[in-house]
Amino acid sequence: GVLHRFSTAVAVEEPITPPVQVQYTQLLINGQFVDAASGRTFPTLDPRTGEVIAHVAEGDVEDVNRAVAAARKAFDQGPWPRMTGYERSRILLRFADLIEKHNDEIAALETWDNGKPYEQAANVEIPMFARLMRYYAGWADKIHGLVVPADGPHHVQVLHEPIGVAGQIIPWNFPLLMYAWKVGPALACGNTIVLKAAEQTPLSALYVSKLLHEAGLPEGAINVIPGFGPTAGAALASHMEVDKLAFTGSTDTGKIVLELAARSNLKPVTLELGGKSPMIIMDDADVDHAVELAHFALFFNQGQCCCAGSRTFVHEKVYDEFVEKAKARALKRVVGDPFRKGVEQGPQIDEDQFNKILRYIKSGIDSGATLQAGGDRLGSKGYFIQPTIFSDVKDGMQIAQEEIFGPVQSILKFSDLNEVIRRANTTRYGLAAGVFTNNLDTANTLTRALRAGTVWINCFDVFDAAIPFGGYKMSGQGREKGIDSLKNYLQVKAVVTPLKNPAWL
Ligand code: NAD
Repeated sequence: GVLHRFSTAVAVEEPITPPVQVQYTQLLINGQFVDAASGRTFPTLDPRTGEVIAHVAEGDVEDVNRAVAAARKAFDQGPWPRMTGYERSRILLRFADLIEKHNDEIAALETWDNGKPYEQAANVEIPMFARLMRYYAGWADKIHGLVVPADGPHHVQVLHEPIGVAGQIIPWNFPLLMYAWKVGPALACGNTIVLKAAEQTPLSALYVSKLLHEAGLPEGAINVIPGFGPTAGAALASHMEVDKLAFTGSTDTGKIVLELAARSNLKPVTLELGGKSPMIIMDDADVDHAVELAHFALFFNQGQCCCAGSRTFVHEKVYDEFVEKAKARALKRVVGDPFRKGVEQGPQIDEDQFNKILRYIKSGIDSGATLQAGGDRLGSKGYFIQPTIFSDVKDGMQIAQEEIFGPVQSILKFSDLNEVIRRANTTRYGLAAGVFTNNLDTANTLTRALRAGTVWINCFDVFDAAIPFGGYKMSGQGREKGIDSLKNYLQVKAVVTPLKNPAWL
């Protein structure tokens, strides 16, 4: 039931008109915007209202075939892999400049299609997109192989080549950042791309890909196919002419695409999947600070983060105080039209996610967790959900085991370090973990013991370009960002030549 009417929440009765026009709604193939072969379109919806923003061309098998043919030609015959790294770098730098120039329009498009706060998109995500492109531009002319010693008189080169046509499937929670994490390294290494945008959020990828062409990217080097997973996505994952696949999304779909890749041409796959990340608050914690950090770790982006700190483990000594303060913080969270200044939380992405989250809330109540705040939808329109807090959550409950992907914080009590290590690691996931302590030994112990691809100590969601990101266990395979991401997009070739009368070995 509804425990609290939010004083700070503004239900969206009169949505603010987004300060941007939708310009691109077709598939982008070989540098041209074109209709789907079938002529079909699908609506992309405004999560504030459920109303149609635009009808977008719906890519399917035939369109993926066309896009892969364009990317294949651009790789096999086009200038992109044949340019110097410096030339590729210049294009990526110009792209970053264009992103900056259009920052506010791009942010508005992202907010309209996704529902995330405009200030978050405009001040954090789009600037981070430009930063990532500059980071990868910096790599483009520094990727090289090496010469290795041989036992006989041989000259041995190890070449690092672009892998070819990269298929990339991205989700809706960070449409542009997921684009940047995938497109940046693939282009820096000289690959060509077919990218399938998420069906919920196709608009921003089309817009920025137009800018990428304006920056000088040759036609066919990136192709963008909005469309659905089981049709366009599956066609890309199983395509015989796609040399590499990168996927971000749910663990269930990750298994499907891995299998499709294996059954077709055994293309290598990187997977960035779900999580159930622990946020561990030790007893030496400054409780006010811990509450704020744990709140951010879970509620950021409407709780729609693969690495959300969705199991808040709190030491018994500070537990009661923490729960009271966490509740107070959640009740103060400003929920409303994401275009409104000061709004911290917009709507969830769509009706499916909205209903799924409400089902998890019901499951939490039914399984005996204590509902401290929220617990219901907000307003009568769109997909807004009250910031929700459960305390007394037990490890076996569904809300402690499955990815909710919404604004629902689950607080669990623990009493000692070994216990929390064991419980934190008892999950099929291993994406991230947060640790809050002033004790260096405790921090070091946790850092090494937690089975997660990222451990944030006294911080959370720090995502600089050079920091690798990815999962242990069923949270994924491979790493994105940083130097590790380049390996996903490079093939390694050994070239051995006999040396006649060498002056040295
Ligand atoms: P999803 O995994 O189904 O979708 C992610 C992408 O995969 C989308 O582009 C989708 O079209 C595509 N896809 C779906 N089925 C496919 C298939 N059979 N073959 C190829 N591609 C396919 O995720 P979702 O349904 O949008 O969300 C469901 C849950 O996934 C969420 O509740 C959340 O738990 C999780 N999720 C995780 C992330 C993440 O960043 N790791 C992102 C979004 C969603």
